[in-house]
Amino acid sequence: MRFIGVAVDKLIPYPNGNEFEKNFSVESNCIGCGICEKVCPVNNIEIDQKPSFNGNCQQCLACANHCPQKAIRLKTEKSKVRYINKNVTLKEIITANN
Ligand code: SF4
Ligand code: SF4
Repeated sequence: MRFIGVAVDKLIPYPNGNEFEKNFSVESNCIGCGICEKVCPVNNIEIDQKPSFNGNCQQCLACANHCPQKAIRLKTEKSKVRYINKNVTLKEIITANN
């Protein structure tokens, strides 16, 4: 199965983190709360009033899904619906990252 995954990775060009995060936009309703920074598993976000991305995005979308303002958006997204796993608390995610 791993072989299939590797083959698919080679066939389908997937943007690296730097390219992927160029798809993010941060809306003006960002309140600078820092939740996105805390849920990012690779410390790819820094907050200076609003988030900036440091070129190592792993495309998990935790930042977008956990923003209380829905301020982080993919430029290509068609819906503001966000997914949060109700079995995992925000505190548990933040604790796991630190
Ligand atoms: S979680 Fe949302 S509101 Fe909070 S700092 Fe990040 S983008 Fe702004
Ligand atoms: S998508 Fe995931 S890895 Fe990328 S910046 Fe957001 S939380 Fe970090």
